[in-house]
Amino acid sequence: MNKRIERLRKLLAESEESADGYLILNIEASDRPNQRYLTGFDSTLGCTLVLEDRVIFLTDSRYIEDAKENLTEAELEKIDSKPVETAATLINDLEIDAVAIDQNDVSLKFYNKLRDCLNGVELLEVDGLLGEIRRKKDGQEIELHEKAADIGDSAFSHLLDFVEPGLTERDVALELEFFMRKNGAESVSFPPIVATGAKSAKPHAHPSDNVLEPGNLLLVDMGARYNGYCSDLTRTVYLGEPPSKVKEIYRIVLEAQLSGLEALGPGESAREVHGATSEVIEEAGYGDSYGHGAGHGVGLDVHEGPKLDETSEDTLEPGMVVTMEPGIYLSGWGGIRIEDMVRITEDGYARFSHAPKDRVINPL
Ligand code: ZN
Ligand code: ZN
Repeated sequence: MNKRIERLRKLLAESEESADGYLILNIEASDRPNQRYLTGFDSTLGCTLVLEDRVIFLTDSRYIEDAKENLTEAELEKIDSKPVETAATLINDLEIDAVAIDQNDVSLKFYNKLRDCLNGVELLEVDGLLGEIRRKKDGQEIELHEKAADIGDSAFSHLLDFVEPGLTERDVALELEFFMRKNGAESVSFPPIVATGAKSAKPHAHPSDNVLEPGNLLLVDMGARYNGYCSDLTRTVYLGEPPSKVKEIYRIVLEAQLSGLEALGPGESAREVHGATSEVIEEAGYGDSYGHGAGHGVGLDVHEGPKLDETSEDTLEPGMVVTMEPGIYLSGWGGIRIEDMVRITEDGYARFSHAPKDRVINPL
């Protein structure tokens, strides 16, 4: 049986709850990443039940043939209709006492329905059990992140070629998405953020019909998904010769980003790593213009644990994949953010992204 399932069983056995099994309820794609992580099988409907010595997987007619070919280690059951009821009936028939489900991964609606259908089997809520395992990536996952990041890097260098005045933010976002998919991405890891001029002061701006004009900032935050695994990259360029204020703010953000990267390593506190970025920005007098955390974990989800912000209690460990993305956002002027994705190594960190960032780039 695969190592991930073994690790889950071990964590389950060590936890205070005495659960006989662990359930992932993936209905209408509600918990697709966990199912994909644990079984390697991606579908919009699936119920995975991990027991001490068996794994049972339920899905419907759309996926059952694929599941037969790919899920050779699991026992398969077909769902004809009503997935929650079908899963509950199966669990009721197993004569077990309790099954664990993660409160982060199930909606209240499905949770209530499942609890109502269970007959004498207790539903135990756990908090982030699989998320804990997913934080540390294995060699295969690192390779997939590498591929995803390479596609992101190529998309950025493509952007430097095609970007020109007259295009809209929406044109740029669409071209980036098209390029990434054409170059091997199964999808984007999130819809690209493309913001020009003063709009770049909104950290998560949606691309609009704003036209790119010389004399403006252009902030692009994008990522590719490769075999499930995400990349995440932000670069800010200037359409024209950058004026001194742009150069100055860019220099501060870059210094903050390098300081955050320098602070990364196994055993380091994620809160203190965030502090290494905010300290630089505060000292430069822009403390109020940096409202988000320095970074986040990346995996099958583009945002997952650990968190790198001022409230984080996480400690970094080798194998974790995180971003480093400080920014300064000045209302009415614009924003500058620089983001790289890295992995924590035994003695520091290694960068996935290699898109240039050392100075303000003028792509025109
Ligand atoms: Zn990003
Ligand atoms: Zn990010």
